[in-house]
Amino acid sequence: RMQDAFVLHTIEEALELKKFLVYLQPKISLETGEVVGAEALARWEKENGEIVTPNEFILPLEQSGKIVHLDFYMFETILQQMKQWKQMGYPLIPISVNFSRQHIKTEGLVERLVELQQEYQIDTSLLEIEITESAFIEDQQALISLMEKLKQQGFSISIDDFGTGDCSLSMLTKLPANVVKLDKEFLCHSESNSTKKMLKNVICLIKDNQMKVLCEGIEEKEQMEFLKQAGCDMGQGYYFSKPVSVKVFEEKYFLS
Ligand code: C2E
Ligand code: MG
Ligand code: MG
Repeated sequence: RMQDAFVLHTIEEALELKKFLVYLQPKISLETGEVVGAEALARWEKENGEIVTPNEFILPLEQSGKIVHLDFYMFETILQQMKQWKQMGYPLIPISVNFSRQHIKTEGLVERLVELQQEYQIDTSLLEIEITESAFIEDQQALISLMEKLKQQGFSISIDDFGTGDCSLSMLTKLPANVVKLDKEFLCHSESNSTKKMLKNVICLIKDNQMKVLCEGIEEKEQMEFLKQAGCDMGQGYYFSKPVSVKVFEEKYFLS
């Protein structure tokens, strides 16, 4: 446990010292192949230059309650970035930020997000809040009212990792979300006919309920083609691009 405490201390210190970076992964329209947005993913840059992925720091930060600080930091960093892109004349695309389920309990969350968005003058319609499906096990009603408040302010909302948790299909149809992100698990068995059938039906159900659907973890051309045919709106995955630094993202999507 001594070691856990030390690791947590190091992570929290890194957070205070702003040693976290935003990586971006593009979201692609399956119909046109165009980049229609991106997801902001946290990376920790160690002293020695090593880039650490979230599986080493999200859980400890969730356990200590400090995850909300990381999320706000990511959100503000994205706003700074978008403001800079605007000044440089780059076209703005919607960016999503992951928000831990712990924010359900964060007092004044929506007000704070609106304050920041106004400070940087970035339209709320360009900002998307990702809430993981597993958050719905806890206080469903509180979460739904939070989503409604966010929506009233014009933010987009997506349900992340759909299909892994306990969100029932009937619940799905009642959520005030704009986008449902199908978990990459769905693609693990995507060659089987029963999985294909299920994917098609889930995509239909989501679209019937006036939400957009994005599939995560697309690694192969065949997966992309199947999803496109099944009517999936957007895709994200290594087939298109891994999450990359802001600099690489700019070079790839704004300067080429
Ligand atoms: P997520 O939000 O579901 O993000 C998608 C994850 O899938 C990312 O992992 C991404 O790198 C990975 N991925 C994308 N395409 C592929 C693919 O084709 N194949 C495979 N195998 N993986 C792919 P990453 O960056 O390691 O992030 C892991 C999780 O950590 C995220 O899952 C999210 O839940 C959490 N996370 C990341 N940044 C933040 C943050 O700022 N705040 C909070 N609360 N959570 C974060
Ligand atoms: Mg996400
Ligand atoms: Mg996900």
